[in-house]
Amino acid sequence: MEQIAYVALAEIGNPQPPIDLTPLARIFNCRIQFTYLKGPEGYTVRTGTGYHIYIATDLRGDAETVRRRQRWTLAHELSHVLAHWDLPWNTTDELDRISPELRGVLEVEANWCASRLLIPDYCFNGLEDLIPAVLSNKCDVNFTPAEKRINHLSRAIRNRLFLEALEWIEADLWFNGGGFVSS
Ligand SMILES: [Zn+2]
Repeated sequence: MEQIAYVALAEIGNPQPPIDLTPLARIFNCRIQFTYLKGPEGYTVRTGTGYHIYIATDLRGDAETVRRRQRWTLAHELSHVLAHWDLPWNTTDELDRISPELRGVLEVEANWCASRLLIPDYCFNGLEDLIPAVLSNKCDVNFTPAEKRINHLSRAIRNRLFLEALEWIEADLWFNGGGFVSS
């Protein structure tokens, strides 16, 4: 799943956050439509040559929270397209072709992939990115997904961030603590 997200981001040139996923939607022939869905936050059906992604406009909350939820929903629906293209899909004629059990697994996978699309490993550049509010603004996602991403961040990346910060502090101490000082 992680691989799928990274290959997809490479397709659009590994953009820096906040990542716009509409170029990816175009590559996979997804038509995006914002509309009232009366319940679900998003929905995707297979069409003849691609996909039709519906994103709910009838969401509660302030404008920024809603916009960020819609960004997330697009990432989530695109993740279904990227990761589940080989499974039976709902079509406009047949809306419930997937069992509730399988649906549960697919939803977890899609959220996992969405998280890597909007907050890829390569966007972690400093210790401040381990603060949910900072990461949330940087990647233009809501606080909760930013916090979850940080909580599940690999130990390797976490260690790299700490080591780089330590090296920076050491270099700074050396530089300002006598290294080049002459009287
Ligand atoms: Zn889903």
